[in-house]
Amino acid sequence: MKQIQKEIRERLTELYRKGKVPHAMLFAGPRGAGKLYMAIEFAKLLLCENSKDSEPCGECPSCKMTSNLFHPDLLFVFPTIKKDSNDKRLSQDHLQTFVEFYNQRPFFSLDDWTNYAFEDGKMPNIYNAEAVSLLERVENKPARGKRVVIFLCPELMNAECANRLLKTIEEPEGANIFIFVSDHPNDILETIISRLQRIYFPPLTESDIKRLIPEASDNVASICHGDMCSAMHLMEGSEELTRNHEAFIQLMRWSFQKDVDSMLKWCNDDVSKLSRKEQIGMLESFIDIIREIQMLKLGASEVSYLSDDLKVFVSKFMPFLFEERVPQFVEIFSDAIVSIGRNCQSKLVLFDMCLKTLVLIPRKLG
Ligand SMILES: [Zn+2]
Repeated sequence: MKQIQKEIRERLTELYRKGKVPHAMLFAGPRGAGKLYMAIEFAKLLLCENSKDSEPCGECPSCKMTSNLFHPDLLFVFPTIKKDSNDKRLSQDHLQTFVEFYNQRPFFSLDDWTNYAFEDGKMPNIYNAEAVSLLERVENKPARGKRVVIFLCPELMNAECANRLLKTIEEPEGANIFIFVSDHPNDILETIISRLQRIYFPPLTESDIKRLIPEASDNVASICHGDMCSAMHLMEGSEELTRNHEAFIQLMRWSFQKDVDSMLKWCNDDVSKLSRKEQIGMLESFIDIIREIQMLKLGASEVSYLSDDLKVFVSKFMPFLFEERVPQFVEIFSDAIVSIGRNCQSKLVLFDMCLKTLVLIPRKLG
């Protein structure tokens, strides 16, 4: 278990050691604070067949099944979006997708999840049928000693759904342990929240973030404010930025060298793999770069966001970027953004853009 949220871990371990684990808990706190992560780790401990010193062994079949999120005594309820009124699927039916998603992204926001799993932009929900199905599933005895139910976003339940669950949540005895997980505890219905033992998670510390993403820079660890979702978005953003910077360098090299074949290949093979949104993001980066270069030419040298590779390249490229051409570059890239946004065939748009860039760059490379 990665050593994050040290105090909360200690508190949970203490409850376990004393045999005082509440039957219904709420892990509440800001987004990206590791609440679900901790719920799964705690479930591992609760379900482990061989725990030592209040730590799951990590070896027994139960620990392995919990790590894979497929355990007969580990149930999940999470928000879903129905395709239409005939769509009867519940979270259990989306579990495979949920597990795939969790393996890629153990820290995620509700948007991250719905963007991954569902097509249209309807609001995610915990449908009433979830409560009916959950009650059926927890009625029987667990396969082994205990059963853990991890319930995400209980604030999305309506009163009807919540009322169905009240009696079960209230049962002080029994094999079921409910862990509700919420970023928005204030939106949970009073009837539910009043029955839960609340555990408040603070944002992660900078060292927690570094422990989870060792490759994160100090900058990322500090500006994400203890939110792992935000840290992951920042990391993805910086990968994308690097890719865009590399693409810019290539495009300029080919323009100097009048290398139309490489341009064509780039448009056909590389760029066509990107989504329209990513293509537009790339072109917006190009405009930013051109503007940064202009700033450098004007003597504003503290431009910091360009990558090191790009700075070296820019210092060579600057003499060729005559100031009067800056608006033309910006126009070429802006026109391409508009065309791609209008669903024109992006290969053609980008190839046309490459040729226009080529014309703007003088033949001789200094
Ligand atoms: Zn174990």
